[in-house]
Amino acid sequence: MGLLSLGTPLPWSEQKYSDHVRQHGIQQFLHIWKNTKDTKGNLLLWGDEVEYMVVSLDDKNKRALLSLRQAQILKALEIHESEVRKYEDEHHVPEGDRIPTFHPEYGRYMLEATPGYPYSASFDDLLNVEKNMNKRRAIAIDHMHSNEFPVTLASFPRLGAPGQFTDPYYPPTGPASRSFFLPDELINPHARFPTLTANIRERRGSKVAINLPIFKDKLTPSPFIDPTIPFDRKIFPEDANAKDGAALPDHIYMDSMGFGMGCCCLQITFQATDIDEARKLYDMLAPLSPIFLALTAASPAWRGYLSDQDCRWNVIAGSVDDRTEEERGIKPLKNNKFVIPKSRYDSVSWYLSRGPEYRPEYNDIPLVQDEAIKKTLQDAGVDDALASHYAHLFIRDPIVVFSELVDQDDATSSDHFENIQSTNWQTMRFKPPPPGSNIGWRVEFRSMEIQLTDFENAAFAIFIVLLTRVILSFKLNFYMPLSKVDENMVNAHHRDAVLNEKFYFRKDVFTSSDSLLNVSSTGSETEGESMANSECSSECSASDELCKTRSLPPIEEEYTLMSMDEIINGSKKVSGDPDSFEFPGLVPLVQSYLDSMPIDVETRCRLNAYIDLISRRASGKLETAASFIRKFIRSHPAYKFDSVVSEEINYDLVKTVEKLTKGEEWDGVGKDLLGGITAERTL
Ligand code: GLU
Ligand code: MG
Repeated sequence: MGLLSLGTPLPWSEQKYSDHVRQHGIQQFLHIWKNTKDTKGNLLLWGDEVEYMVVSLDDKNKRALLSLRQAQILKALEIHESEVRKYEDEHHVPEGDRIPTFHPEYGRYMLEATPGYPYSASFDDLLNVEKNMNKRRAIAIDHMHSNEFPVTLASFPRLGAPGQFTDPYYPPTGPASRSFFLPDELINPHARFPTLTANIRERRGSKVAINLPIFKDKLTPSPFIDPTIPFDRKIFPEDANAKDGAALPDHIYMDSMGFGMGCCCLQITFQATDIDEARKLYDMLAPLSPIFLALTAASPAWRGYLSDQDCRWNVIAGSVDDRTEEERGIKPLKNNKFVIPKSRYDSVSWYLSRGPEYRPEYNDIPLVQDEAIKKTLQDAGVDDALASHYAHLFIRDPIVVFSELVDQDDATSSDHFENIQSTNWQTMRFKPPPPGSNIGWRVEFRSMEIQLTDFENAAFAIFIVLLTRVILSFKLNFYMPLSKVDENMVNAHHRDAVLNEKFYFRKDVFTSSDSLLNVSSTGSETEGESMANSECSSECSASDELCKTRSLPPIEEEYTLMSMDEIINGSKKVSGDPDSFEFPGLVPLVQSYLDSMPIDVETRCRLNAYIDLISRRASGKLETAASFIRKFIRSHPAYKFDSVVSEEINYDLVKTVEKLTKGEEWDGVGKDLLGGITAERTL
């Protein structure tokens, strides 16, 4: 989850370097931008990141715990990796076959793994993804104890529940989180992570407070007042929070960063050929982030309870929300500069590209910006759209500053820039090249929840990659107002959103506003007017007179509410049904792209198996991981229909997930999730 600098992290009370980090961070960005803004022709490379939870299984007592042996496991993996890399270099092993890389994550029970080298745009490489994910899991297992296993659960159902949930046991709380429920020992001990936790809490002025609606089952008390919250316990000053209303009735209350950053996701990063293509991809993928959050929904259980939502995203948003009361608009501004509508971990608030398909009306949500930073960027020649993006990201303070790293050479370092950039955890991330590298401009797609099996994770990774190819080849246009993308984001969290929610989506994905202008322009238009119009579409702001007069359809006509099935699988106009409409669907678009490519039959069949999973998830023929987990819990013999996920249920769930991950399906378990698809597995 970001840069691991070494040194002494400053506690919040001594962190006086916010302006220094911002100013130098922007200078560092400008150095990178000047050096790379005109670079063209970078290869279309990409990579995925898989996050794992290491569980420790106590078969005797039927308990699944989170193993806190991250450091030991990573150390063993590192030694193995360096030995293998040496061999690979000596024997010139092709990049695609090289050993994957493991990284630490926030939770001391977490691991993250990436392919050893980026994948290319080739179809062969697509077929390597699942194998590579398999290999990562197998290598991880080889470096664990025999009772440990790396599961890819997005949220651990009993994290923070009463009793023991970590191995070894530590009693809850600690100076960093001051949590009622989580021990600080669960946080990665690298100085960055406890400091992030403590400084977020201190900057905010209180513990974070996350309240998820409880899933009201047949015997859940109503109102539900959680008996596991120590309302009367007071160790630290903040402990008055729960009592004073931070913990809501009918909700699952969580009070620490670990509940969010202790979740697992699947992220995909693409290298674009140049900065403009990266901006375009960023914009086209942003409206897809809630769609793929809903489709990958995998986190229905929290702190020992079933919740009435299926996704992790808003839990993480709440868990790192360092905004003060002034910034949250609770108190008038006095010590802070801005009222900020969103957490640092949230959806994007600004489109970046200004191609012909862009209309200013798409950027329709308030963008809080640091005007001085914007001016610095503009004075250096950065265009308005990109300057606004960074002027927005840089409204945040650096949360962790290492005293040894305050002074840097802005021409060669990007440390201050990355400090702010990498703690803006948004649905998309626009990534400039690291200084001095041959890496290009990249975008990261960050909303997806991790799936239980490598097959599913490969399917989602591959589908997103194929979508980027389709977007670029077919010049697709997914623009719609960001306020609608944000509404989709809220709805994506809802229980069974895939089946029950409708999402805003652009109706005509082939039109750009440019072509609309051409279609609607009359024959009497002079050449001068037509040029003005196309200039208008890329340059003007919503208030420009020229824009008001141009004959584009109202923005509201460009999008409509669609079901997940319609967005992914398409819809047909039915004669006599005025509400029906024609929409190509993302899967058919990907299929027609593949039809246009020279692909051998075997490759195509194997790609189809992945695409089919996405299609069947969207149509409801297969269930999401969230639905699978909820059903598993509710049909467990020990479940009392009171929303409680007991230790025994949790253990059986984790065992079941372990078996599914290993490719075992038995008595139909997993059939509704995977549809009987058996993939190559090496575990
Ligand atoms: N684990 C976080 C999530 O579930 C992401 C952390 C990261 O950016 O690597 O979204
Ligand atoms: Mg990560």
